[in-house]
Order: sequence, then C-alpha cells, then structure tokens
Amino acid sequence: MKLFIDPGHGGSDPGAKGNGLVEKEINLDIALRIAALLADIKDIQIRLSRDKDTTKSLSERTDEANAWGADFYLSIHCNSFNGHARGYEDFIYDGISNSSITAAYQQIFHSEIIKKNNLLDRGQKKANYHVLRETMMPALLTENGFIDHPLDSASMKETIWRQDVAEGHVRGLIKAFHLQTNTPDTPSISPHHEKSGELKRIIAGSFSSRVPAERQIGNLRSMGIQAFISVENMTEQTIFHVQAGTFSSNQNAQALLKMLKNAGYHEAFIR
Ligand SMILES: [Zn+2]
Repeated sequence: MKLFIDPGHGGSDPGAKGNGLVEKEINLDIALRIAALLADIKDIQIRLSRDKDTTKSLSERTDEANAWGADFYLSIHCNSFNGHARGYEDFIYDGISNSSITAAYQQIFHSEIIKKNNLLDRGQKKANYHVLRETMMPALLTENGFIDHPLDSASMKETIWRQDVAEGHVRGLIKAFHLQTNTPDTPSISPHHEKSGELKRIIAGSFSSRVPAERQIGNLRSMGIQAFISVENMTEQTIFHVQAGTFSSNQNAQALLKMLKNAGYHEAFIR
C-alpha cells in the first residue's frame, strides 16, 4: 500500500504555539518516527509531504498525494484552544458516512492511538478540512493533544511520548491495512560476515573506544531508538560504530537518518 504522511504546517507556517513548543516541530517529529517504525513492514511505500521544516500549501500536499495515487492520507497535527481544553481527537471528512471505509479506518486508528498516548479521549470527529476534503483516498487527521495545555504539552516534550504516539499510529495502520512485518533483518556485527550490499545501516556515531559509544546508545534509548555497538577492526585501530537501525528500504533508512539529524546527531550516516 502507498501511505502519504503529512506532518501539518512547516516553514513560515508554525501552526499552534504554546508552553515553549511549536506545532510544526512536534508534527514532523511524530511523522518521522512513524516512517522509521514502518521499516519492518512489508509491502508499504511511504511518501511525506515534508521531511524537514518546509513551507508547503495545503493544495500542494493533497495534489501530491492524489498524483502519486496514495491509498491512505495521514495528517499529523497538535491542537490548541484556550489553555484548558486537552486530549486527543481525530477527524475524517464530514461529507462521508459512518458506514464508509474511512470511518472504519478512523475507528481502528482511534482505538490504537488512544491506547498509547495517555491523553483524554475527545472522540472521533468529522470536519470540512482541506486535506480531508480534497484527497481522493481515505484520509485521517489526528490532533495529538493541546499544545497550550500544561499537561498535554508536558507529554509532547517527552521523546518517549512522541515515540508512543507514533507507535499508536503504526498499530492503527497495521490493523487497518492488514500489514505484515518483514522477517527482521539480522544485523551482522562482523564486517566479514556481511550478507549483501543491499542493507542500509544507520550509524548514529563512531568512536575510538567503547564507553562513549555505550553512552550514546543510552541517549538513543531515551529517544525510543534501539541501537547496538558494531565493532570494525581496522589495521591501525578499532572503531566502535553505534548502529541504530538496519533497513532494506532506502526510504525508511532516510527517515531514521532525518530524525537523528533533527535530534542533533549531525554525524549520523548510512553505510
Ligand atoms: Zn495544525
């Protein structure tokens, strides 16, 4: 299936603001986490409306998804209102019925996301939003908490929470589209036993000793990213690579790389 992920706002349009947070950044972070989590899913193609802080109109977003022939359009947002409202809600186009396939998808996503996000459940809703109306495929817009509410925004600041929210979306996708996971890529520790040149390994950092590499693994874990040390024995020295993922899909590898760079791991690379 072809999944179009749309992190709301971006560039000159920050979206909502509150408690030191900017909506466009939270949306992008969650979207990149979703893309990275989909690495192990079979038969899925992903396209993002933006994978960095880009200005893009609503029509550009929906035109792209329509031209690509996406099977599902997933728009990621955070809410704001009066500082008192809080919780999670999601939207489908108000011109479609409760017996539509889109409504069925909403039901599935809603129950999976609410299990993971620890937010007040504001329910499943309908609205006449551009991205829901102008998309030719089923479309869902999730509002992942209120950025101007003290409790919701405190959650948004936690990387673990954003990872959980991404996981909720991915569980929804797996259920709604009956997706299956690939047999996990077994990462080869020794360079002498590399399988094929096909796999893309994400290296978050490389060190000349084990201790700083292990420290970085701890930092990555607090972001919800599993990593391990891959030792490379060179003639002159031993290098301790922190390997944060192995992918057969270049798209998914790029998504994790972007996320790491956004999180300040500027040295991260694919090998
Ligand atoms: Zn928004």
